[in-house]
Amino acid sequence: MPIDPTRPTSAMSLTAQTAGEHLRNLAAGEITAVELTRDYLDHIASIDNRVGAFLRVDADVALTQAAEIDARRSKGQPVGRLAGLPVAVKDNLCERGQLTTCASRILANFRAPYDATVIAKLRAADAVLIGRTNLDEFAMGGSTETSAFQLTRNPWDLERTPGGSSGGSAASVAAGMSPLAIGSDTGGSIRQPAGLCGIVGMKPTYGRVSRFGLVAFASSLDQIGPFGQSVEDVALLLETIAGHDPRDSTSLNAPVPPYSQSVNKPLTGLRIGWVREHFGPGLDAEVETAVRAALDIYKSLGATLHEVSLPHSKYAVATYYVIAPSEASSNLARYDGVHYGDRTDEKEMLAELAADRKRLEAAGDRAGLDDLDSALVRMYRRTRANGFGPEVKRRIMLGTYALSAGYYDAYYLKALKVRRLIRQDFDRAFEKVDLIAGPITAAPTFKLGEMAGDPLAMYLLDLYTVSANLAGIPGLCLPCGQSESGLPIGLQLQAPALEEDRLLRGAQMYEQATNWHKNRATL
Ligand code: GLN
Repeated sequence: MPIDPTRPTSAMSLTAQTAGEHLRNLAAGEITAVELTRDYLDHIASIDNRVGAFLRVDADVALTQAAEIDARRSKGQPVGRLAGLPVAVKDNLCERGQLTTCASRILANFRAPYDATVIAKLRAADAVLIGRTNLDEFAMGGSTETSAFQLTRNPWDLERTPGGSSGGSAASVAAGMSPLAIGSDTGGSIRQPAGLCGIVGMKPTYGRVSRFGLVAFASSLDQIGPFGQSVEDVALLLETIAGHDPRDSTSLNAPVPPYSQSVNKPLTGLRIGWVREHFGPGLDAEVETAVRAALDIYKSLGATLHEVSLPHSKYAVATYYVIAPSEASSNLARYDGVHYGDRTDEKEMLAELAADRKRLEAAGDRAGLDDLDSALVRMYRRTRANGFGPEVKRRIMLGTYALSAGYYDAYYLKALKVRRLIRQDFDRAFEKVDLIAGPITAAPTFKLGEMAGDPLAMYLLDLYTVSANLAGIPGLCLPCGQSESGLPIGLQLQAPALEEDRLLRGAQMYEQATNWHKNRATL
């Protein structure tokens, strides 16, 4: 990557400026797309060795895109709505001709043959695709630590996790390495890292954004969404990527409102619900104080506060950890070294097979010879044993178990029934309130390695996020405070399905009334 040490660093202004501000400067000709892209590339080059947000940055591709956009603009030709703005993309979205690794060894060399719809939409909007961000392997995790390739650190405290699974995208925006980023959220993977990194992140309604070209984790829960430094930026990016797509059969055929235009219209008569079950034991005192203060802000803005109950939310984590691994075990079956994925070293494998056969023949072990795997089965086995990391294997085993004959009714089918009850809880709550507000995580970000070896503790961290995925509703997280040690605290807002407009406007009301979003991590 080209670094020019003589150029003055504009890191401070980069982290302070929102996408909206950059777009105004670009349109006014105060900065070119090439200059802006170069500023971000330089900033990445100077700090990402400490943060680890990016798996790959292709400076040449980004600068070529930027130059092409500048050329069109200077000729007075039309440019897209994000023209010249760098966007970082989680490495589980297919980008034609580029590596799409899902932070897994099994896809370490996989080049996508086509663009995901979201990538195509970003290109059509003339965004500059600046790089690919780190994630938990196949988006399974909440700390980005299950990535097969590298750790990502929280820009607020490099000893701590940025959250996950979209930790690279969140850290990139929080550290000013890209004004916007794309993530995916199956059980919280956009909202939780946004909260832990002090930025804004949103999971849209299931089906609002096309999943075509998103490498599937749990297909009935996965949803792509935006990260930004402000609610306005997130509205702008959502507006760019949302919409019906015939190539995704679960895509919703509903018009996309102009979110970025309406976001500044405050909601009148707003009824905010707070969930009784969300303020129980286990909630960190500083988080509780910050969230309650946020509710008071809404009150001061004219909203009314209402206690609501989501009685089945106590089953949400258990339900999610049956459904998500079940779908994952099926989705990940395709990585067999034949259809997709790196294949085990065949020479080595065939030599091992021959040696085993010889040993069994010498021992006259007929049963052993009968049981000997064929070359093909052995290839599958070795490919998957070497290609997947421990968390992915754990999920495949959990899911295969839950789906197997004799257990299906007890686990998977039961989980589907509870999922319906969780959805009904939200339906009932939303009869009384317009938005639900509460914590995004029970505590601020934790130390890297702190949860290692305790998968259950990791799963339990998803308490406040998985319900929205199970119910299919949109959720947004924005900064609402800081712990005494200076770590960000996030506020989650949730709305009924397809009410992103309401969600964004409600979030914007809070953002306008407070200064938390102006705090920046300093590296
Ligand atoms: N932490 C959750 C999990 O590990 C959510 C992941 C996600 O949303 N991709 O499954």
